[in-house]
Amino acid sequence: MADHLIRATAADGGIRAVGVITTKAVQEAKERHQLSYVATAALGRAMSSGLLLVSNMKKEGSRVNIKIRGNGPLGGLLVDARLDGTVRGYVGNPRVELPPNQQGKLDVGAAVGRQGYLYVVRDMGYGYPYSSTVELVSGEIGEDIAHYLATSEQTPSALMVGVFADKQGVTVSGGLLLQILPKAAEEPQLAETLESRISQLGSFTSLLRQGKTLTDIFEDLLGDLGLYIFPEIQMVRFHCNCSLERVLGALKMLGVDELEDMIVKDGGAEATCQFCGKTYWANVDHLHGLIEELKAENF
Ligand code: ZN
Repeated sequence: MADHLIRATAADGGIRAVGVITTKAVQEAKERHQLSYVATAALGRAMSSGLLLVSNMKKEGSRVNIKIRGNGPLGGLLVDARLDGTVRGYVGNPRVELPPNQQGKLDVGAAVGRQGYLYVVRDMGYGYPYSSTVELVSGEIGEDIAHYLATSEQTPSALMVGVFADKQGVTVSGGLLLQILPKAAEEPQLAETLESRISQLGSFTSLLRQGKTLTDIFEDLLGDLGLYIFPEIQMVRFHCNCSLERVLGALKMLGVDELEDMIVKDGGAEATCQFCGKTYWANVDHLHGLIEELKAENF
């Protein structure tokens, strides 16, 4: 099935639930950036998290950026997820591979690093973006995002994200976000009930590998709590909005001397989009155009 995101509520609107499948988007990220297994898991978890976080924003054009800077060999990562279901991202060192952790799983925590910071930026498409920073809890990403939600957004939340990748590629990837909204936050039993059900649920990837759909998982968790699944399905895909114009805009910032140097030495300039790996070639005419613009601006 194609990647998608669905929303639901339960307990008279006291619980908000969102689920997302990102298998194909993460496979595309893996191929575009030639990611190792552990880098695929790290970026994939962050991509699912970004889509889950942006899903409660209202305004068209809203987006969430997740930036992680840990002390591990992955060298950080950045994800840009949008309300329209598009997502893109990259890691600092895509080839890093590590032995499995004690549970036999991809050691995302060691790759990201257990010390460092998580930055989340919410951009509503107007005004100043809202950003906040928290320290990493484990570098496993799911726990770090849940910690961010609890401390920065003061919403009791449970977040599960997972990626399963083997020689065939990314087999399953996705995530689940459950939040207890302020109207229900006074009911301590609700939080306890959810917590114990989630702990019995097992890992998100194993549920998907058993063939469960997001609807099945919602039913298992919230079926007896007045579950309502919204009929709208948001399609999800890896997408980057880079273009030659944007690349030229970035090159322009290098200044006249550097651009002239590129014309003489290289006969143009190659620039690669970090988010999607696409390579652009700015030829001599493009570079001359930029130099003229700079000179006109400084005149
Ligand atoms: Zn791009």
